[in-house]
Amino acid sequence: MLTNEYVKRVYAQVEQRDGDQPEFLQAVQEVFESLQPVVEKHPEYEKAGVLERIVEPERVVKFRVAWTDDEGKVQVNRGYRVQFNSAIGPYKGGLRFHPTVNEGVIKFLGFEQILKNSLTTLPMGGGKGGSDFDPKGKSDAEVMRFCQAFMTELCRHIGQFTDVPAGDINVGAREIGYLFGQYKRIRDEYSGVLTGKGLEFGGSLARTEATGYGVCYYTAEALRVLKGDSFEGKTVVISGSGNVAIYATEKAEQLGAKVVTVSDSNGYVVDPEGIKVDVVKQIKEVERGRIKEYAERVPGAEYHEGCSGVWTVPCDIALPCATQNEIDEASAEALVAGGCKVVCEGANMPSTPEAIAVYQKNGLLYGPAKAANAGGVAVSGLEMSQNSYRLNWTFDEVDAKLKSIMESIVAESLKAAKEYGHEGDLMLGANAAGFVKVANAMVAQGVL
Ligand code: NDP
Repeated sequence: MLTNEYVKRVYAQVEQRDGDQPEFLQAVQEVFESLQPVVEKHPEYEKAGVLERIVEPERVVKFRVAWTDDEGKVQVNRGYRVQFNSAIGPYKGGLRFHPTVNEGVIKFLGFEQILKNSLTTLPMGGGKGGSDFDPKGKSDAEVMRFCQAFMTELCRHIGQFTDVPAGDINVGAREIGYLFGQYKRIRDEYSGVLTGKGLEFGGSLARTEATGYGVCYYTAEALRVLKGDSFEGKTVVISGSGNVAIYATEKAEQLGAKVVTVSDSNGYVVDPEGIKVDVVKQIKEVERGRIKEYAERVPGAEYHEGCSGVWTVPCDIALPCATQNEIDEASAEALVAGGCKVVCEGANMPSTPEAIAVYQKNGLLYGPAKAANAGGVAVSGLEMSQNSYRLNWTFDEVDAKLKSIMESIVAESLKAAKEYGHEGDLMLGANAAGFVKVANAMVAQGVL
């Protein structure tokens, strides 16, 4: 609930201006609730108009992406880049290609990214972009032509010192390769302008694994510090079967847990013996197939149509790794009824506010997305460092840095939670810790 007058006033302005962007409003409300004790302690933020400014992107670029499909027909999509906040570094955040993409979705993701990037301790501002292009059913050549058309406009707005995009839903190694190639061709410049690149052209080892591994490092550390517990012997439910879900599954299993589910936008599989991650990789990363095929290949596994049923599978730990608002109140109640004690978010904003209230009411350990999934952008930041140095660190070096960053995010969140009177609250702590650094930089840099 919003009770602080300053916070309430700024939120009312956002509601009035952006009332047609529900995901953005949801993200702002969640953050603002956490920031109330912070602005009470720091009146200088109100004086400098920090909240009014932080909810307004520095720049929104919206553009036509025209390309030709394999039948020779002209297709038109919308492209976006929201350059949200550059107080602590160049804009940084992924590109999402999905039919649900619109300005409000990109703004919610960009807003979250400001605080997430701050939490990593690396010098990165917040941004996000994408298109309503749907790569499902498109040939490689169509995806390439789309990416080239998208970058033809985007390249005017990004650069290694201004804005460095990465991948997100449906933007993986293939798309980043095409986007990088087109940037290089038009700008005649070989720089670290994108992260998530192939290893042959400036990518970092462990970037592919980073978000999923990071979610598990974060969860393991929060479990250790808050509960004196670990992944060992736990049953884990994971949603999604893309980049984040696959590597969260792999790491949770390495840490001694049994992952029993994965899903896609059609349905979910339950494998009581534990998900075979190599089979998921083959279906999703190599064949670009549907998760249903897992049950056709692995004896004893079952496929169920529909997404929300995955939360009814009994577990100790749930790691939502698909998309926003995938856990509503009923799904959260189902998780609690199935014995779940921990929810850490791999996807961005996968829990509705009502679902979060259910976790809080039932005393679950809740790790919010901007902290739990910050490992991806953290290793993107390390990729930028390696590009600047023109050298490559080993997998183990990057992985060790990732683990230490995730552990420090838990520590910093808990420290901030205590400082602002909410000991043990990882959500309030993440919002407060991420915000204070950005807010101080904004105050120091004057009214911009
Ligand atoms: P991928 O495209 O690799 O995978 C996305 C997965 O989620 C797929 O299994 C997809 O199923 C499923 N999914 C997508 N949209 C929906 C939907 N509307 N309903 C149900 N399922 C859906 O993306 P990522 O793994 O990279 O991203 C997953 C989440 O993690 C996103 O929220 C993203 O913002 C977040 N994230 C990603 C980071 C990264 O480094 N990649 C970093 C931090 C956060 P289908 O194939 O059927 O579409």
